[in-house]
Amino acid sequence: MQSSFEKLKKFFRLEAEKNYNDQAIIGGLAKVLDFWEGEARASGIDEETVQAVSTCLRGYHDLAPEARAESLKSLWGRVQAQRPGLGDIPPAPARPAVMETGRAKPSQPQQRRPQPEAGRSASVPGAGTRQRPIALNASLTVLAGVGPRHAQTLEKLDLKTLGDMLYFFPRRYDDYSQLKPIHRLFYGESVTVVGTLQTVANRPVRGGASSITEAVINDGTGALRLTWFNQPWVANRLAVGEAISVSGKIDQYLGRLVMNSPDWESIEAENLHTNRIVPIYSLTATITQKWLRKIVHQVVSYWAPKLTDHLPASIREAAQLPTLGEALLQVHHPDSQESLRQARQRLAFDEIFFLQMGVLRQKREWQAGTARFYEVPDDELAERARLLPYTLTNAQQRALQEIRADLRSGRPMNRLLQGDVGSGKTVVAALGAWIAIQAGTQAAFMAPTAILAEQHYRNLSALLVETGPLPPGSLRLLVGDTPEAEKDGIRAGLASGQVKLVVGTHALLEDPVTFADLQFVVIDEQHRFGVEQRSALRAKGAEPHLLVMTATPIPRSLALTVYGDLDLSVMDELPPGRQAVETHILRPRERERAYTLIRSQVAAGRQAFIIYPLIEESEKSELLAAKAEHLRLQQEVFPDLKLGLLHGRMRPDEKDEVMLKFRAGEFQALVSTTVVEVGVDIPNATIMLIEGANHFGLAQLHQLRGRVGRGPDQSYCLLVPDHEDSAENQRLEAMAETNDGFILAERDLEQRGPGEFLGARQSGYATGLQMASLTDVRLIDKARTQALALFERDPDLGQEENQYLSEALTRFWGGGKGDVS
Ligand code: ADP
Ligand code: MG
Repeated sequence: MQSSFEKLKKFFRLEAEKNYNDQAIIGGLAKVLDFWEGEARASGIDEETVQAVSTCLRGYHDLAPEARAESLKSLWGRVQAQRPGLGDIPPAPARPAVMETGRAKPSQPQQRRPQPEAGRSASVPGAGTRQRPIALNASLTVLAGVGPRHAQTLEKLDLKTLGDMLYFFPRRYDDYSQLKPIHRLFYGESVTVVGTLQTVANRPVRGGASSITEAVINDGTGALRLTWFNQPWVANRLAVGEAISVSGKIDQYLGRLVMNSPDWESIEAENLHTNRIVPIYSLTATITQKWLRKIVHQVVSYWAPKLTDHLPASIREAAQLPTLGEALLQVHHPDSQESLRQARQRLAFDEIFFLQMGVLRQKREWQAGTARFYEVPDDELAERARLLPYTLTNAQQRALQEIRADLRSGRPMNRLLQGDVGSGKTVVAALGAWIAIQAGTQAAFMAPTAILAEQHYRNLSALLVETGPLPPGSLRLLVGDTPEAEKDGIRAGLASGQVKLVVGTHALLEDPVTFADLQFVVIDEQHRFGVEQRSALRAKGAEPHLLVMTATPIPRSLALTVYGDLDLSVMDELPPGRQAVETHILRPRERERAYTLIRSQVAAGRQAFIIYPLIEESEKSELLAAKAEHLRLQQEVFPDLKLGLLHGRMRPDEKDEVMLKFRAGEFQALVSTTVVEVGVDIPNATIMLIEGANHFGLAQLHQLRGRVGRGPDQSYCLLVPDHEDSAENQRLEAMAETNDGFILAERDLEQRGPGEFLGARQSGYATGLQMASLTDVRLIDKARTQALALFERDPDLGQEENQYLSEALTRFWGGGKGDVS
């Protein structure tokens, strides 16, 4: 047994003599493992130690020399603790002034959170970078007091290595530096209070079917009653006389202040007395806050100061940020609210900055490609536009010219066309496709549902076939329901090049679909597709030009950050003659007025949408609620009308069928959950009633409202919140005030955060954002400015001072190429 360790010591000594240049053994120190691991196990060395040695050596090569010395030393310290008498390996010599070059071998794959949408790694910035001492890649079992069982539990929190711990940010903090005395609490506030337990008791209620745990704490200024419903075990864990801290919202019961179901914890005396801000981490069963806090503290206080900052000092200073080490220390153990704020700023900056650098790099990557060159004379394009039944708006003209310039650039277009609902994106995309088609190449148009694809097909037929340039048969529709024989014909036409333009759904992605020469790809409602789907379509051509479209208005700061890899065209203008949808907020008891307006619109030959929110959690109750509401409206309110029903539990083809019937006028009103198709164009629908409007975000309300007001007639949108709450109604007022999706989006972003805008992007990028809020426009601007400036100075990050950054960035983006759409 000794001999395995002795061998190790021999190599480590040799390595120390060679100034930790990884040449003690040919092929690097990791080669030792080839024989050592087996030997060590055979000689009975425990698995934990074998793993620790193996982890250390595998990552050894990727370390800077001084970090290598540190890592061998720390490993050896561990071995010695188990086997005293082995002797030291010599201490590291003074830092050798060798700059390491050519790290050919990649290090251990980092653990990554799964990122199905984007296929990108979201490991946190700085995690696993070279300047990180290798010990940070070590399993948590290297810590005193953490055994394999604990390690398994910690893994549930995504904590596998010491490095993960550094980035395991507290869920919240208890600020003992500013505790609030009980006599100064007031109703409605959320606070943390500390006190001593005076009484604890369980009390059965409802004849013993349930129980209430009641406790009273006193802090010397007053007493506060605590209650927990149906958690009888709480009483067993609370002892009279014990000090606890409780966090929650102050409520009122029979004139006294109470806290219902508070989070609680036993107080660790040291926290109380130090007046500190104490981190509270997310827990999982079987570990306690106190234990976890101690472990994290151990790791952070030792390692954070040893980290080399991946942000070059120049950027850190320009952006006025603390160092990484300082930020990590402060985020786990803030000295003050101010230093916590700065720490969070720094960590959030990193995230946005990395995001920006990543998209900039991707943009450069695709810009380096070459693509088919298209030139179309002004007069031909103008002639084509003249054949349209209307004049293009200025915004449409601008977007079209931008697309045209892309097609003329010789580089693949990668453009996001963003335009409010009804701004007329389809025709712009169609004219772009036409430029590619008139030159003899092919185009594909993909939409998320059959009904949208079919709608595009009809529009494109009108634009391109009926008015001339495309011979019939060269434009086809391909959806899942297309009969197999017809599909065969379409596929043959696409493969031979006889079909020039195909419109379809996911059916386009199927393997047998091949193109003779696909050069222009349009993806409508892009957020409805995953990255793989978008790139699957693109892959059917060779670097085709790509236009992705979205009707979800995204505030500019956000768009530039999250979609920074795409060029952006914004259509901020609606075709003339569009009337703003008249929007009213009605109180619940004024609902009858809404019904009256619906009846009068239907009497005038128009159609109505009735939308209601799903508050129910389970899908089953959702379905029941939908059906019940439909029945109620049909029987009690509109017995003389035909009402369709659309809900999320229907199959796509069932939904399509209902929508088609509605469009064909077979239903006068459509009762629907929010599944009602974005992008569906039913000009005859002029009124929309939205129940429970307070449950929706502004962006979503705006999308819903966009289903009406698409024809020449005045349209209405009636918002009925299900209770009166001034704050929420104020939000709804914004809907009544403006029809401008961008204004509403800005407000929504302020109020609800970016979730609704991001769709697939959210899971793709923003899951990497633990700390940054995409609503923090100032931070975004700051990070963006710095990223752009750096990208100008040193696009390849080849300069010395950017070395660490370059590697941290590679790690953040998983080293792979993401898709640009
Ligand atoms: P979206 O941008 O929401 O996809 P569409 O492309 O579906 O909008 O267009 C909405 C409607 O506006 C369609 O009926 C289309 O024919 C019409 N339209 C598009 N451009 C113009 C224009 N410049 N003038 C008048 N109507 C237009
Ligand atoms: Mg559309």
